[in-house]
Amino acid sequence: MSQLPTVGHLIGGKIITTGDRAQDVFNPATGKAEKRVLLAPKATVEEAIANAQAAFPAWRNTPPLKRARVMSNLKVLLEKHAEELCAMITAEHGKVLSDALGELQRGIENVEYASYAPELLKGEHSKNVGPAIDSWSEFQALGVTAGITPFNFPAMVPLWMWPMAVACGNTFILKPSERDPSSTLRIAELALEAGLPPGVLNVVNGDKEAVDTLLTDPRVKAVSFVGSTPIAEYIYAEGCKHGKRVQALGGAKNHAVVMPDADVANAVSALMGAAYGSCGERCMAIPLVVAVGDATADAVIEGLKAEIAKMKVGPGTAPGMDMGPLVTKPHFEKVKGYVDQGVKEGATLVVDGRGLKVAGHEDGYYLGPCLFDNVKPGMVIYQEEIFGPVLGVVRVKTLQEAMDMIDAHEYGNGTCIFTRDGEAARYFTDNILVGMVGVNVPLPVPVAYHSFGGWKRSLFGDLHAYGPDAVRFYTKRKTITQRWPSAGVREGAVFSFPSSR
Ligand code: NAD
Repeated sequence: MSQLPTVGHLIGGKIITTGDRAQDVFNPATGKAEKRVLLAPKATVEEAIANAQAAFPAWRNTPPLKRARVMSNLKVLLEKHAEELCAMITAEHGKVLSDALGELQRGIENVEYASYAPELLKGEHSKNVGPAIDSWSEFQALGVTAGITPFNFPAMVPLWMWPMAVACGNTFILKPSERDPSSTLRIAELALEAGLPPGVLNVVNGDKEAVDTLLTDPRVKAVSFVGSTPIAEYIYAEGCKHGKRVQALGGAKNHAVVMPDADVANAVSALMGAAYGSCGERCMAIPLVVAVGDATADAVIEGLKAEIAKMKVGPGTAPGMDMGPLVTKPHFEKVKGYVDQGVKEGATLVVDGRGLKVAGHEDGYYLGPCLFDNVKPGMVIYQEEIFGPVLGVVRVKTLQEAMDMIDAHEYGNGTCIFTRDGEAARYFTDNILVGMVGVNVPLPVPVAYHSFGGWKRSLFGDLHAYGPDAVRFYTKRKTITQRWPSAGVREGAVFSFPSSR
């Protein structure tokens, strides 16, 4: 029997730490297992769904302002517990503490936006749409809703989902990533402390068995998913087949175009953070630079080489680190395999991060920053999402060539252009087939009061995540038309279709 602490479930306001199936949670900085996470069987997920369903009627009828107040309380608690939460994120994900704090802050901003739900739910009203007839639309909660989240933002991505879902009057079941589940569960506990009634938010840890139960159970009305594209596509198809509303955000391969007129030094600084921050494990990371003109490419490569030489790679808890380890040993092997593949395919490996050893952390999953030149469409390292500290430079002759290349790629999550030419920037933002676009902004992640989502195979479904789209996703519109005829006035039957003619 393992002596490691257990990460359990939160069901009906109670933490459950017993179960037959579990797996290790590793600290990527050391390579050691530090916790066990329970993997919920179908019956446990069904218990969570039953609790969420039982909590729904009272929560739905709770005044929106009271629901919103829980979000305001939670914001304060998240700020108070920031250090504890960031330590949990870094211990299981590996990202440096300052990066964990950035993710938590972005999550808190979503909680803050959810506290405006009463304003966002006000609906639409029209008086006298016909003779003494008034009409209004209201946005009603769906019931039990669910979210399935990835490893790379264990605090932020869940906070994209459940705060707005519950602020709109739904109850929620969250299935976090089994690779770094602690901060996600701790935040759910803080939500209880903030005043969320038991059963409104439930957390079940688990794998495919838990996910499939959520996708097929008829009591679950809507599913939000964030993760890789193959799983997103599966979630979308299965969820829709079972009559649910589904939004499934998938993977990415984001290109940054550097124009000949760009401020190359500043572009290089921006690219460093966007390519290697969080070890490249961000869906908005920049793994590809498209340099317009050979002179631009040469200058960018020289600039990147110089900056990479200054990077500090080590445990995310050590002060001054720029980059920590990759999340797990299998992921480390996979990313390293992509670098080997790039060499085989004939791209030029300008900086080789393989073989990096961090003293005192020899079993950690560290891969140093890697930089390729002469990457070309068709190469595996161009086409596939690597999700690691591997940046490739593609050389093109014109902006149009760069844009055609981006448009032809299967993913369309984020992109950006570095330029001083307003006309080029406007042409780019207007025409590029990508959902989130930056101009001299490398990570154009929308703020909490806008919505987040890619195009093409980066998102399945119609509505984007968080922001105003989340209010629409987690509610259904009901339109009421009302008339109170005067008592005693006799009205004849009308057989023509009612209109305002
Ligand atoms: P993943 O797809 O492996 O896992 C995501 C979730 O799905 C996890 O909770 C996991 O337990 C579950 N899951 C995994 N396999 C499953 C299966 N066969 N059936 C049912 N459920 C399954 O993703 P990940 O590795 O945790 O996260 C990284 C990926 O997420 C990258 O592709 C990244 O681009 C993407 N991502 C996208 C966004 C976005 O907004 N578009 C944001 C963050 C991460």
